[in-house]
Amino acid sequence: MKTAKGFTLIELLVVIAIIGLLLAVIMPSLNIALERSREIVCENNIRQFGIGMNLYCNDHDGEFADAEDWLLLDLVRCGTTPADFDCKWHDASVIPNGLIVSYLSSDDVRVCPAFKRIAIRNSSCAKGVSFHNPAIPIEPQFNYTQNPFLGRLGCLRASQYAQKITHVKSPSTVFAYGEENPYPLPANKRPLYGNFTVTASSSSPVNDCLLYMLNPATAASEIASRGNGNKHHVPPAFIDCLGSFHRAKDAEGYLGYSKAVFVDGHIQNVMPEESLIYAWPF
Ligand SMILES: [Zn+2]
Ligand SMILES: [Zn+2]
Repeated sequence: MKTAKGFTLIELLVVIAIIGLLLAVIMPSLNIALERSREIVCENNIRQFGIGMNLYCNDHDGEFADAEDWLLLDLVRCGTTPADFDCKWHDASVIPNGLIVSYLSSDDVRVCPAFKRIAIRNSSCAKGVSFHNPAIPIEPQFNYTQNPFLGRLGCLRASQYAQKITHVKSPSTVFAYGEENPYPLPANKRPLYGNFTVTASSSSPVNDCLLYMLNPATAASEIASRGNGNKHHVPPAFIDCLGSFHRAKDAEGYLGYSKAVFVDGHIQNVMPEESLIYAWPF
């Protein structure tokens, strides 16, 4: 006759310890695999933006879409910002109606899964900053942004832009679309060069699908002072930059990078401090 024998406490503890050990070994590589899969989705998304840009240019005599109206028409009107401007990125009732939208392969390409994941927990809105409207649930809707020097930025900079795709000197070193952060990049949190300062104030809008890389009041003179190929100099009035959330741990969301698709169609990881280097088209 068989006697039913259960586990002793010691045996149970050993089994639990072994399972814990296995998990500890497996989890990091699982996390890396998950992050890599998010990157692959993001790369496919941003590739569609590059294709969309080319299709748009083909249909418009080579002209780029307006960098203020490419995703949402009338997102910004000169001198005014609409109500809940800073929460539009997570407002599911906002339907993108901009110039590029019909050139994208599907609605799904508008949000990067890595952004989505980190924004739900760590965005400025999730952390309840003052501009957030708590009546709007945090459902990330978009996070890609157009190079502000491609296509007109009507309100801020009427003259400093590449109107046509043929105006871009080196298509392989100028990004067309990149990603914005769901939170400000804190100053002095990553090794930066020169006078690089970032959108550090919690009152600054982030992820609005608009990159305002220079202080509009001084943009023209700063660009002029950069002069002949000296585009690696980052001026102190640099106010906006590409994201830092890919491959960044939750508590160190400032250490990563964003994806960007370049005018020639290739995809590259771009550091926030490289934003202007790869934006300037002339
Ligand atoms: Zn919000
Ligand atoms: Zn991404």
